[in-house]
Formats: sequence, structure tokens, C-alpha cells
Amino acid sequence: MYEKERRAVAAMGRQLLASGLTAGTWGNISLKISDDAILITPSGLGYDQQQPQDIVLLNSEGEMLEGKRLPSSEKALHIAIYKACPQARAVIHTHGVYSGAFAAAHKKIPALTEDLAQVIGGAVDCAVYAPPGTEELAEAAVRALGERRAVLLSNHGAAVWGASLEQAFMAAQLIEKAAHIAILAELLGGGKKLTAAQTKAMHIFYEEHYSKRQEGEE
Ligand code: 13P
Ligand code: ZN
Repeated sequence: MYEKERRAVAAMGRQLLASGLTAGTWGNISLKISDDAILITPSGLGYDQQQPQDIVLLNSEGEMLEGKRLPSSEKALHIAIYKACPQARAVIHTHGVYSGAFAAAHKKIPALTEDLAQVIGGAVDCAVYAPPGTEELAEAAVRALGERRAVLLSNHGAAVWGASLEQAFMAAQLIEKAAHIAILAELLGGGKKLTAAQTKAMHIFYEEHYSKRQEGEE
């Protein structure tokens, strides 16, 4: 079942690895197909080895419906984000370098650029520390996520969501770029943050118009 969607998740895994937003078998990807069907990458299997049949099917509570592999150890994180964000159709957990630097420093990635403001909806907060693969991590992540589309996981990485796999991947690229820019701007005397009103206006423009253009609908 869901052959096309399984292929899309496996292909996104290879794209994630190639992008450098993770290394080895770390990070994970899920795709919500319906209210009670979520595909998720298997635990600890190299992205270059993942075949469509290795992608695991879960229900909305994270229980396994179909699969010959163990589901990602971060399934609680993915499930918690789908519960908290009804518009989320895909979740990607990354282990990137620049976002990882902010997560290691327990600092938020500031809203310095318009693409971050548009897509993510503001600064990327850092969740309080919790061990990987735990319910505690899932709860901490959702608390820090709020209304935005990305969150940092202390001493670990980041999680992002989107209305599609492609949008979630773009969000992952944007927070990595924003983290990189914020660090470089420090060398130039420090970035100038967008105001809350500027950020909000850009996010609304993105949600109402620009995201539709990207989908060819406007
Ligand atoms: P999985 O291989 O179980 O998905 O875990 C990787 C990871 O990043 C844990 O936080
Ligand atoms: Zn991880």
C-alpha cells in the first residue's frame, strides 16, 4: 500500500543526506497520508539503502500498521507535531551543522531574513533538553515549536514541518541558511532583527500568496 508515497519518502531521504542536513543514519522523515496513516523512515538504516518497502506505516498514535523494519526512534516527535499542527503533512528531523551550533548553544535562530520570516513565521526557538527518542523530547519540542514551522532540539538538531515533503525540506534548508547567516552577521557586528510586525506581515504574505505561487496556484 502507498507505493508512490513510500518512494517519495525514500527519495527525500537520499536528498536529505546529499544536502548535508544530516550525516549517516541520523535524522528521519515522515509523511502524513491521511488522519490515520503516517509513513516514517526506518530506524538506523542508511538513506542510500532505504527501499520503498522499508518505510514503515503507522497510525495517528504511532502504532505500527505495516512494516518489516523498526520505525524511527523519533516517531513520538513526529506524531506530536502532527497532533499540534493540523496543517502539517510532512515532518523532517535534521542534524545540520549551523542549526546544530544553535542547538548546542541553546540559542534561538533569530529572524534576520525574509525567507525565514515568510516560511517559518519567526525565530526558531530551542526546546529544553530531553534525551533522543523520548516522549519528553516530543513534548519539549512541541512546546517550543508554538505556531512556527521549526524548532531546535537542544544538543541534538532540529525538526521542521511543511504542507508537503518538498515544503518541509525547504524549511529545513531555510533554517540551516538562517543559522549560517546569523553566525556570519555576528562577525559584522551583529544582525538586525526583523520586528514582530514585519515578521508577521511576511508570514501572512507567504501563507496567503507566495506559497500558492510556489505550487503554481496563483
Ligand atoms: P532513527 O534512525 O531511529 O530515525 O534515529 C535517528 C535520530 O536522529 C535520533 O534522534
Ligand atoms: Zn536525531
